[in-house]
Amino acid sequence: MVHQFDAVIVGAGGAGLMAALNSAEAGRVAVLSKLYPTRSHTGAAQGGIGAALGNVEEDHWEWHMFDTVKGSDYLGDQDAIEVMCREAIDTVYELEHMGLPFNRTPDGKIDQRPFGGHTKEYGKAPVKRACFAADRTGHMILQTLYQQCIRRGVTFYDEFQVVDLIINDGVCVGVVAYEMSTGELHVFHSKAVLFATGGFGRIYKVTSNALALTGDGVAIAYRNGVPLMDMEFFQFHPTGIHRMGILITEGARGEGGILVNSEGERFMQRYAPTLLDLAPRDMISRAIYQEVAEGRGINGEDYVYLDLRHLGRELIETKLPDITDFVRTYLGIDPVTEMIPVQPTAHYAMGGIPTNVDGQVVMDEKNTPLPGFYAAGECACVSVHGANRLGTNSLVDIVVFGRRAGRHMAKTVREIGFHPLPKDPAARVRDEIERIRHNNGTERAVEVRQRLQEEMMNRVGVFREEGRMTEMLHILQELRQMYAKVRIDDKGRRWNTDLLEALELGYQLDIAETVTVSALARKESRGAHSRVDYPQRDDVNFLKHTLAYRTENGPRLGYKPVVITRFQPQERKY
Ligand SMILES: Cc1cc2nc3c(=O)[nH]c(=O)nc-3n(C[C@H](O)[C@H](O)[C@H](O)COP(=O)(O)OP(=O)(O)OC[C@H]3O[C@@H](n4cnc5c(N)ncnc54)[C@H](O)[C@@H]3O)c2cc1C
Repeated sequence: MVHQFDAVIVGAGGAGLMAALNSAEAGRVAVLSKLYPTRSHTGAAQGGIGAALGNVEEDHWEWHMFDTVKGSDYLGDQDAIEVMCREAIDTVYELEHMGLPFNRTPDGKIDQRPFGGHTKEYGKAPVKRACFAADRTGHMILQTLYQQCIRRGVTFYDEFQVVDLIINDGVCVGVVAYEMSTGELHVFHSKAVLFATGGFGRIYKVTSNALALTGDGVAIAYRNGVPLMDMEFFQFHPTGIHRMGILITEGARGEGGILVNSEGERFMQRYAPTLLDLAPRDMISRAIYQEVAEGRGINGEDYVYLDLRHLGRELIETKLPDITDFVRTYLGIDPVTEMIPVQPTAHYAMGGIPTNVDGQVVMDEKNTPLPGFYAAGECACVSVHGANRLGTNSLVDIVVFGRRAGRHMAKTVREIGFHPLPKDPAARVRDEIERIRHNNGTERAVEVRQRLQEEMMNRVGVFREEGRMTEMLHILQELRQMYAKVRIDDKGRRWNTDLLEALELGYQLDIAETVTVSALARKESRGAHSRVDYPQRDDVNFLKHTLAYRTENGPRLGYKPVVITRFQPQERKY
């Protein structure tokens, strides 16, 4: 079946919905989502959205910009970071006016709290910049945007999984989607396509990311010739619930929570004397690994404690209700009276599909746009987060760049007509699906996936080293051979999750390979990328973005310069 829309948006998280809202007035817009929209991972975001409103104390977007540049370990593009920090303010007010129920100060303004790496006066002390709705900020953003999209007449195709991008004569002209309830393939023909498919934390074993975050959009773009940018930078959040990876928001430390080791010591005093428990995430995650390596993990194991007890019942239950509930439900302990066992959890992809500040996907080192193709949100790399993202900056990123991409798409679809579809655009993916459905091999997708996640966690996680990553490339080859022999039990068409998981595993393998190859080549430590064999940052050789292009023999790497406008690289101390 072929559908025609002026714009097609893939993904109904904050980025996709913001883009839909902002393109809706220019024509007919469809949002395709493999999940029911309000189940998107944006809804799991807890702690807050950063914007220099200055409601509780003095603040300026320039300070926000500086913190973001420094947090990125100077790899973020400063032109894009400036756009984000300036427009964050207006975008947060826009969300407020749409009805988002932010927490309030006593005089009725949007309340703000401190978050990791956000400071006043260029690094002097923590600043209250995170706007929040208890610890359900993302949930509120998602509900608010979804309601507004319905109001504007956006058409939703829920539980439609996009399985390919359609490019004809170098122009992006639509997508192919698999309707989960029937197994039917649909072609969506459009003037503009936006990918807002979120992250890919599911390449790791312990992760805060939802099951659906398998990197579909990123891998599909890659398979269609788009290079992937800065894939080696993956953030581990320091406070995942031990073994489960479920996130305990940084807002818990923003409200005054502290980390302690087996000796009861507040160890961040030794690693980040100024910002302590509110240092950036990459630093705290490494500090926890270090404490564990030196024998100060709790009970000699691989975790430490997050202590909230001194905050008191009322604050814990009113400002952190969801995480309180998680801890009571999943661990059977009460954070009001007991400490929470935490360990680093794979959390956020800084890298992804390269775009310019209008969300246009760019194809090469010269930033040449691919006509008709856009990306925004976690699947995209603008790059505002560089080598390490600050807390609250993803929600800002998705709404600011979702909005900009939506506006640019609106302009584009008004100006141009439909470029024709190629012949049988679904042929390639239909073949792939039939191959999986009829494969009589001996392997199981779940086993390949578990091995992938475990090995990535151990070899390309918080600490990295040449030998172990080289071995990872061999393991990936082995896993690919196994993948070619994956057999599924369900041969049917309706709700065939077996089939979709097998397809997703293919994406995870592609992504893991680009992460590993990019990380091996970056012989320095910067932000979240920490090489034990190259512990220093090396601005002479590596102050540049990685681009991984797909070839028959695995990823080929290219590089492009970082945009530096206001802030020259300095040593990163907190
Ligand atoms: C537990 C948790 C807490 C967080 N807390 C914060 C926070 O407090 N502050 C902050 O700034 N950031 C936070 N983050 C990060 C932030 O929430 C995410 O980076 C951001 O919400 C991603 O939004 P998105 O719109 O890009 O994608 P998502 O919200 O992940 O949405 C992805 C969408 O793509 C769709 N999709 C994916 N693949 C396909 C496909 N093949 N076909 C069709 N549809 C597809 C999905 O259905 C979904 O609708 C948190 C993340 C997690 C995991």
